[in-house]
Amino acid sequence: MTRILLLGGTTEAGLMARAIADAGLEGVYSYAGRTDAPLGQPIHMRVGGFGGVEGLRAYLAAEGITHVIDATHPFAAQMSGNAVAACAAMDIPLIALERAPWVAGEGDRWTHLADLGAAAAALSGPARRVFLAIGRQHLAAFTGQPQHHYLVRLVDAPDAPLPLPQVRVIVARGPFDMAGDTALMRDHGTDIVVAKNAGGKGAVAKIAAARALGLPVLMIDRPVIPVRRVARTVAEVMGWLDHPARLGV
Ligand code: NAP
Repeated sequence: MTRILLLGGTTEAGLMARAIADAGLEGVYSYAGRTDAPLGQPIHMRVGGFGGVEGLRAYLAAEGITHVIDATHPFAAQMSGNAVAACAAMDIPLIALERAPWVAGEGDRWTHLADLGAAAAALSGPARRVFLAIGRQHLAAFTGQPQHHYLVRLVDAPDAPLPLPQVRVIVARGPFDMAGDTALMRDHGTDIVVAKNAGGKGAVAKIAAARALGLPVLMIDRPVIPVRRVARTVAEVMGWLDHPARLGV
């Protein structure tokens, strides 16, 4: 019997869970547990890390998992690497549902950077007004640049002071739209944006807003993840699971 582990935490994972439920397949949606109130899902849910590759292997065995779908965020490299290692060791089929990265177009003023540290280093110099669109857990990388005024958007209200001295916090969960992000950045007086190349539609509004406002973007490129099978759409993954007819594709 098919029994799927869906590694989640993204909009795409929610769509994948819906397709699994609609197909009548057995599946478990796994959250890391980073947000206070994770969205409900139409399949079983579990929350929390597995305990590295060994913990994941034990979970896969105990739960009788036959297929793993990695629909984590493109920057969740640790989890994705663990999934590759555990599935290879146990000969369990693995597929990643991964959005294509954003590509700079006309009017974009991007500087590509390899990681958070490089983005922080690129901010050395006089004080600026920075929209730091990278998530709470990575803010510490910017403590070495305290001269700037930062705008930070978080899913949950912070329960402790943030590690940046001059910061305005917006609590909001995507998807966001361009008009709203343009207004937000105007209101803050943003003059540079720091973003991770997440891809997808839910977070692209800030990139479109930066383009419209003529602002530079420090674009952090995706981390390298070990080679695995990759699908771009839920339908492709359903095909891989050999249930395409149930989706009408
Ligand atoms: P990460 O650095 O790759 O993972 C660190 C550890 O967190 C993993 O080794 C694993 O712990 C646990 N973990 C991560 N994703 C998990 C999942 N779906 N289910 C169970 N355990 C998970 O991941 P991250 O960048 O911190 O991201 C954490 C979660 O937030 C992911 O679900 C991701 O999809 C979501 N997210 C991340 C970003 C981002 O920019 N990184 C943005 C939006 C959403 P163990 O080793 O103990 O198993």
